[in-house]
Amino acid sequence: MTYPTQPTASHFIGGKYVEDTAGTPIDVIYPATGEVIGRVHSATPAIIDQALTSARAAQAAWAAMTGTERGRILRRAADIMRERNHDLSVLETFDTGKPYQETSVVDATSGADALEYFGGMAATLTGQHIQLGEDWVYTRREALGVCVGIGAWNYPTQIASWKGAPALACGNTMVFKPSETTPLCALKVAEILFEAGAPAGVYNVVQGLGDVGAALVSDPRVDKVSLTGSVPTGRKVYAAAAAGIKHVTMELGGKSPLIIFDDADVENAVSGAILGNFYSSGQVCSNGTRVFVQKGIKDAFLARLAERLADAVIGDPQDPATSFGPMVSARQMEIVQGYIAKGQDEGARLVYGGARLDRPGFYLEPTVFADVTDDMTIAREEIFGPVMAVLDFEDEAEVMPRANDTEFGLAAGVFTRDLARAHRVAAGFEAGTCYINTYNDAPVEAPFGGSKQSGVGRENSSAAIAHYSQLKSVYVRMGDLEAPF
Ligand code: NAD
Repeated sequence: MTYPTQPTASHFIGGKYVEDTAGTPIDVIYPATGEVIGRVHSATPAIIDQALTSARAAQAAWAAMTGTERGRILRRAADIMRERNHDLSVLETFDTGKPYQETSVVDATSGADALEYFGGMAATLTGQHIQLGEDWVYTRREALGVCVGIGAWNYPTQIASWKGAPALACGNTMVFKPSETTPLCALKVAEILFEAGAPAGVYNVVQGLGDVGAALVSDPRVDKVSLTGSVPTGRKVYAAAAAGIKHVTMELGGKSPLIIFDDADVENAVSGAILGNFYSSGQVCSNGTRVFVQKGIKDAFLARLAERLADAVIGDPQDPATSFGPMVSARQMEIVQGYIAKGQDEGARLVYGGARLDRPGFYLEPTVFADVTDDMTIAREEIFGPVMAVLDFEDEAEVMPRANDTEFGLAAGVFTRDLARAHRVAAGFEAGTCYINTYNDAPVEAPFGGSKQSGVGRENSSAAIAHYSQLKSVYVRMGDLEAPF
């Protein structure tokens, strides 16, 4: 089988594809079959230098354009991305294994949303005027300079766009390093931005493993680092950025609680639990993987959940009918299998799935454990796969400290018909992104990010602007200036 996935070259720098085959080869593996469908090369020191030089050289002129001009380019890129949604979605499915049914509605489309939103915002970015008697201060909102973006493998187009769009809107340039597991999609984001009119060097992509990311983060030409990845990687990147006093955004992992009260609508609660555990085969950072179910609704919830899971269409992810695809890689599948075995060893009750499917590719069944207790490994560690842990609880007072008893704080959700309780619970969650009677929505208009170990800073919304720009205060005196001598 031939796949239309081999990129023109590994890197996109200074408005063109660039190759250096001296870099370590990285095979692109299609998760649905396990076959090699492309190859890129990790960036050599020469490629890293070329990308940073290019981004540095382009930055001043890019920042000197008006916000309207920059925004027009971003909005044009959004239009191109939408026009090519089908092809980009097919590519995203080859890169990640996520079903086309998902990629066609959440990947290039949400990338385009970010480009459109921050494109529209670019012209509105202003400073302030602060009157001090007859003197005054004004502030200028200025770019940071060169930003490095480092991506995880679960949403390669979205992550490349969510970082690129606000960075470019503010007048920064970017060097983006996708995950080595999914190297293809970010190249298309770079191509589209260039085609839309972004000058050469404004948005560059280099491939590589963690060592390339580390080299970018520690380079003195870099002013800001935005990482989407796991907490252990976040600690390393945050520390390396701190050595150079660089700005950071950290979008890290989670083990989020989803609380379902007795009075919840069972059908909606099951939908929320499915969206928060099995979308993208469970490979979503904000997933609500600790599902606390109040005792009165537990049987109805588990029964309906099993019926709905039996309706999942597991198969070829390029088939629009498929609603559940493979894990991204053999490695990730093995990690998840290890957690399933641990769940069983530690006494959780397997009530659905648990096995690898007897077909090529990295397919695991949607898996549900009931009677999970707070101390079990599957209730404490991020699994990043299709494994739901269902825990019992008695009442709100008992469940809230349990829900918050985690080092993570990315997301949290509650299903209830009691309005006052819903808002009280949302206020009590120690998490950056909370949901009431829904789960995992991430519109560009709303801030997204984590508290506690799950992150620093926010993506999306006007909140992201603060993380990609800095204020300069300018003091202006109208009269004579006195000095002590
Ligand atoms: P990962 O931490 O293994 O890798 C993330 C990226 O960091 C990759 O591009 C990798 O090459 C790079 N990297 C690794 N070591 C580095 C180093 N020392 N210096 C610089 N870069 C380095 O994560 P992953 O397995 O690709 O993705 C899964 C994780 O990402 C999960 O924990 C998930 O929760 C998290 N995630 C978070 C969000 C969010 O928005 N909060 C979104 C998606 C995924």
